[in-house]
Amino acid sequence: MLKNPSFYVTLGVSLSASQSEIRAAYRKLAKRFHPDANAGDPRSEARFKKIGEAYEVLGDSGKRRDYDRGYASRSRSGRSPSRKQHAERAFDSNVKIRLYLTIAAACKGGYRKVRFNRRTVCVVCEGLGEMQVDGTGCKTCQGSGSVSYEHTVRVNYPAGVCENEKLIIAGEGHIMSSNSRPGDLMVTVVYKPHQYLEARDGDLHYNCFIGLDHYIQGGRLKVPTVDGKTVLYLEPRISDGETIRLSKRGLPAHGGKPAGDLIITIRHCLPKKLSRKEMERIKELMRLPGFSPPVDAKGFFPRGVD
Ligand SMILES: [Zn+2]
Repeated sequence: MLKNPSFYVTLGVSLSASQSEIRAAYRKLAKRFHPDANAGDPRSEARFKKIGEAYEVLGDSGKRRDYDRGYASRSRSGRSPSRKQHAERAFDSNVKIRLYLTIAAACKGGYRKVRFNRRTVCVVCEGLGEMQVDGTGCKTCQGSGSVSYEHTVRVNYPAGVCENEKLIIAGEGHIMSSNSRPGDLMVTVVYKPHQYLEARDGDLHYNCFIGLDHYIQGGRLKVPTVDGKTVLYLEPRISDGETIRLSKRGLPAHGGKPAGDLIITIRHCLPKKLSRKEMERIKELMRLPGFSPPVDAKGFFPRGVD
């Protein structure tokens, strides 16, 4: 079993560091803590030893693989929760956030300023968690080696940005060590619900309910759009479930995807409850020609009757 699951922390590199990054980090630290350069300093000597141990394993890809495997199973087993927690903080340098946009904003494109707590290497102890002079715990970072501050980043989003699209702002994540590059800010776009419209694959959908009068006579139909409304002319006797497509009135073209449409689905709105008076009026209507179903003398519908 592993004696030290924080070799990555010792060398100040991320879990995904390449072999050459590990080598470079080792060389830099070894030079700094070399006994020749720190004559008579037992702490530097101890640190030099630790760096050597870490590099012996991580510098060899085969040993590193075994180490990673052992570390992963140890983390999963939960036998060392405090160490696991520390390691996750130390290694996950990417910051993931959600950006909530209205459909109108997604159509238009623009930017938002987002704020989050960014962790960075403690400059007082240089990420060691302890003071190099006397070995006491660092008060600035409480021995954790890192501190956090409120960080603001401008996130630009293109016109037509899709729901769940990921925008990656490189280098704006946590800074886990001075030897490795900062993590990225990973932004997932989430649409805020619209009062009338639903966005699906770049198209916008609207359910339009029409009453009996609209069904029989047709007429003007008011439809909401992203930036206001539009008026259509409805043909008489349009079927329930029929769709009307307004070309390029959905999300604009983006990322190789063409502009979406505004799709209006007609829904017939029939009364669910009728008063006695309304019932009598309906019955009166049903006695008029054209209101009764076209049955033949036997009470059936002959083929071809529309
Ligand atoms: Zn510190």
